[in-house]
Amino acid sequence: MSRQSRDAWAVLGVPPGSPADMVRAQYLRLVRLNHPDRYSGNPVEQARHEEVMKEVTWAYQEIVQGRATVPAPPPPPPHRNAPGPRRPVDIRELQCRAHGRWAVVFCTVCGTPLCSRCDESLSGYCPAHRPKSAF
Ligand SMILES: [Zn+2]
Ligand SMILES: [Zn+2]
Repeated sequence: MSRQSRDAWAVLGVPPGSPADMVRAQYLRLVRLNHPDRYSGNPVEQARHEEVMKEVTWAYQEIVQGRATVPAPPPPPPHRNAPGPRRPVDIRELQCRAHGRWAVVFCTVCGTPLCSRCDESLSGYCPAHRPKSAF
């Protein structure tokens, strides 16, 4: 079969992953719409709707029997502040630049790693950004 099972949602005209009762309601609606009795005086139309019904029945079977998979949503566009894939931690980002010691706080303004000697009072500011009034 060349047709992909996931196309079944489109054939039935329901959003992928629709609940079973919604799928069934739509199927019954299409059965009514394409019923051969509606086109009893028109063999051409009757034959056409018969073909449509074959498609619809196929799609309904695919969905109720769980073969019509829901296509995976497209990956979200990369965002600057998104956590994203974890990159390995650069050890230099965890050590202060002045003393090469492990940072205990990071400057809240520039993010500079600060060891307990850089920022003795653990104010969270590097020397360049430390508010004068705090000392
Ligand atoms: Zn330091
Ligand atoms: Zn700073």
